[in-house]
Parts: sequence; C-alpha cells; structure tokens
Amino acid sequence: MREAPNIGCTNDAGAAAGNSVGRMTGSAASPGERDEGKASSAADLVASVVRPEIRALSAYAVAKADGMVKLDAMENPYALPGPVRARLDAALARVAVNRYPDGGADAAKAALRRALGISDRQAVLLGNGSDELIQIITSALARPGAVMLAPEPSFVMYAMNALYAGMRFVGVPLSTDFSLDLRAMRSAIEREKPSLVFIAYPNNPTGNLFAARDVEAVLRASPGLVVVDEAYYAFAEASFLPRLAEHPNLLVLRTVSKVGLAGIRLGYAVAAPEWIAQLNKVRAPYNVNALTQAGAVELFADTAWIAEQASAIRAERARLEAALGRLPGATVFPTQTNFVLVRVADAKMVFDGLKARRILVKNVHGWHPLLANCLRITVGTPEENDLLLAACAELCR
Ligand code: PMP
Repeated sequence: MREAPNIGCTNDAGAAAGNSVGRMTGSAASPGERDEGKASSAADLVASVVRPEIRALSAYAVAKADGMVKLDAMENPYALPGPVRARLDAALARVAVNRYPDGGADAAKAALRRALGISDRQAVLLGNGSDELIQIITSALARPGAVMLAPEPSFVMYAMNALYAGMRFVGVPLSTDFSLDLRAMRSAIEREKPSLVFIAYPNNPTGNLFAARDVEAVLRASPGLVVVDEAYYAFAEASFLPRLAEHPNLLVLRTVSKVGLAGIRLGYAVAAPEWIAQLNKVRAPYNVNALTQAGAVELFADTAWIAEQASAIRAERARLEAALGRLPGATVFPTQTNFVLVRVADAKMVFDGLKARRILVKNVHGWHPLLANCLRITVGTPEENDLLLAACAELCR
C-alpha cells in the first residue's frame, strides 16, 4: 500500500511530474527572517514562501510532436466530418468574444443533457477538461486530514491533485491482471475512511474495464464521494451514468477529449444536485469559455458522428491488438479504451526506436512496478497503425 502520491510518474501529457519529492534545494528561511534593506533574490523568496512539495515538482511538459505520428495522448485521430465542422465554424463565428461567457453555461449543459438523456434529478457541472473537474472536486473535499483513495496504477492526476490540495493520497495496488483487488480496496476504505475515491472506468494506463460489481462494492463500502471517471466511455460500452439514482455517493466524470474534441477542453460531471451545488462554489466564474460553450451546443445537437468514429477506432483497436500480440515477446493486455497497453522485452529500446522513426507513443515503464516494460499506444488511423506495426516488427525481432 502506498501512501504518497505517485509523483515519480510522468503524467499523461508526457510531463515529468518530478521524482524528487523530499530532495529540496535552497534555504527555507521564513519571509520574516530576511535582513531588512537587503534585497533577496527571487530564488531565496521562492524558497521561503512556495510550498516545498510544489518546489520539488517539475512542471507539466507536453512532448513535442511536430511532424510525428502522434500515438501518445489518446486523441481521436480523425478530423470532424465536413458538415459538422461547417456547423461548428458557423456557430463560432457568431460568438460575441467581447463579452464574458454565460457563467452557468446553460445552453451547453442543456445540449449535453439532451444528448445523454440525463434525468432532471441529476445536476451537471462543466469544466475546462475533466482535469479541471478533478481539481475542483479535490479542493472541495480536501478538509484537513481528509484522504483520497484510488487504485494504482491509474490516472496520475488524481494523486497530483491530492498533493496540490494538501490531501493525503492512498494508492491501492491493482491485482496483477489489473483487476480491482477488492479485498485490499475494502480494507483500505475501512481503515482510511476516504472522503474521495477515484475509479477510472475503464482505467488509464492499463486500459481494462473493472468489473461493474467490484465498482459497486466500492460504492457501497465508501463513506464519501466516489468519482467514476468515464473518460473512455465511448470505447467501453459500459457506464455508471444510468446508476446515479441508486448511489447517492456517485459522481460520473466524463470528457470530450477522447472522442475527437481534445482541443476544446470540455469535461462534465454528473451527480446529485447536492454535490454539484457545493462543487459549483469552487469553480471559477467563467471556467468554460464562450467558444467552447457555443461549440458544445452545436456538437451535441447531433452525436452520431461521435459513435461512428468511436466504432471505427474500436475496429482498428482489434486489428492493432491482434498484430501487436503476434510480435515476438510481446504481451497485449485487454483494452476497452482507444489505446493498447503492450509489454515488450525492452520498452525503452522500442520507444526510442519508434521515436527515431518519428512515431510517438508513451513509455509507461517506471510509472509503477505492474507496468514494467509497458508501452501505451493510442489507436491511430489505419495508415498510422500500419506505420507503427511495421516499425514494431523491425524493433521486436
Ligand atoms: N481522466 C482520465 C482517466 C484520463 O485518462 C484523462 C486524460 N488522459 C483525463 C481524465 C483528463 O482528460 P481531459 O482533461 O482532457 O478532459
């Protein structure tokens, strides 16, 4: 059982989130201790006032991918269909950018409710990506002494946000087949009484979908809020959205990032109005910009294109899984997402070899012992996947 945020990991955008917590540099005199009249350097001032755990981090660095086959960030490789793009462009052209956006994002929320069939008994909160909603939820629940609990390995931003908010993070290792270790989860929940549990459903970076009955057991055992993060819902054909009425402690979190709209930065949370009313207080007044709101109204008016592209990605995923599985020494793990986790003999060698061939994937080796020599490969277009497979065939002989 780990109790420290997994900040030795890199985060999803290829960031070095830092692996040197505890190794601090610089003096840590309090501001009051400075000699009067003597100018301090910015570095001294930073050392005296910025929280040590923040100073020990490295900033979020997104891997440069210009001119590369980009299979590292779970983006949808397809552009918007022509007619959808034309409707979006027309809607954006009408936005009055001299005005603040609608603070409540009412039209965007209404479009989303219609598209997803969200009942009137549930409330919706929009965010600048689901990343922002994770931050909002965490800061609202970070009472002194409160615990955030999540399986590990999972989405690294949960632990990062616990650190930002000063919440204690408890990671519970997954079983070796990446399923939830329910016995370990139950005993950690019993012992830690977490205010907040995050379950990625399906999980990133392992790609598998936990058994619904295991997630339900976590919901029943948990004394606080359980966030079921469905970032990959479009590729999974499973959701807890219809189960909200059964579980007053359930919040379903989603994003449009994986279904073709990563650039507009829009995430949404659905839960009982009592939860959303509190989270809404933590949200910045205009957190979702006017262009994104207008785009969402247009894009959610007809979501058939999302389902069509997701189904094309699922078909390519099956082809990729089968072909990767035929590589000598490779193990492909089951996936319900738009990426494939594969273990190879030497992940660094394959990662470097792919990079030299202008193909960018994610090397997750070192993130967690269960991910030794694993690469996370986003499903691309058929042509991109062909390039990847040809390169892998050369590298994994
Ligand atoms: N949750 C999970 C499980 C993810 O994998 C990601 C992106 N990698 C996010 C949330 C954040 O998505 P976004 O901020 O783009 O909405």
